[in-house]
Amino acid sequence: MVVKKNIDKVLAELAGTSCRLIAVSKTQPVDKIREAYQAGQRLFGENKAQEMASKQKELPADIEWHMIGHLQTNKVKYIAPFVALIHSIDSVKLLEEVNRQALKNNRVIKCLLQVYIAKEETKFGLDESEVSALLKPELATNYPGIEIVGLMGMATFTDNRNQIRQEFDRLKNLFDKLKQSSLPANVRITELSMGMSSDYKIALQAGSTLVRIGTAIFGERNYSKP
Ligand SMILES: *Cc1c(COP(=O)(O)O)cnc(C)c1O
Repeated sequence: MVVKKNIDKVLAELAGTSCRLIAVSKTQPVDKIREAYQAGQRLFGENKAQEMASKQKELPADIEWHMIGHLQTNKVKYIAPFVALIHSIDSVKLLEEVNRQALKNNRVIKCLLQVYIAKEETKFGLDESEVSALLKPELATNYPGIEIVGLMGMATFTDNRNQIRQEFDRLKNLFDKLKQSSLPANVRITELSMGMSSDYKIALQAGSTLVRIGTAIFGERNYSKP
């Protein structure tokens, strides 16, 4: 029952905001996910396409599956039939493949553009000029299988709360700026995915609409036993 207790604790923090919780279940066994499901949780996040696809087969159909990790183009096919939202669009090449797989499955797949906000070299994402370049009017005709519904970002892994706050604020500013601008027909900027176990309270203050929380719900991940 610790999973339910942890979920309730996060939900209490989100009360009164329009922010939704994605329970990040990567590496967690199916029975842990079921425990969260029984507590009422319906949005789950995974970072590996095949792992998500195999869990999806075993679990209730009303779960919304969110792809939050770096996605290789050759893996899109595993999740294209059912994925609710891909948070991690970090290249035109990936967008092209998601569009192709969406059309193959007669779907429109919702996506977020992952924006690079951290000071670390290792984080994937687009910079602001790449985001603007992408959001050209042709986007709607070139990619009828995708709908871009917002932005995602990951802050630097640091204890410096001010730095994290600045990075989230920067993403929120871009989000607000895009909302005001004229956008292609298949772009609707409504979701801002930011915040993990260690920094979701800062992300909430900065205006996050989707927090992605793993450890604070399920405990430490055990990579040897997925
Ligand atoms: C693993 C992961 C999370 C969740 O991290 P926790 O620290 O366990 O909450 C959130 N976002 C992304 C992109 C992740 O890969």
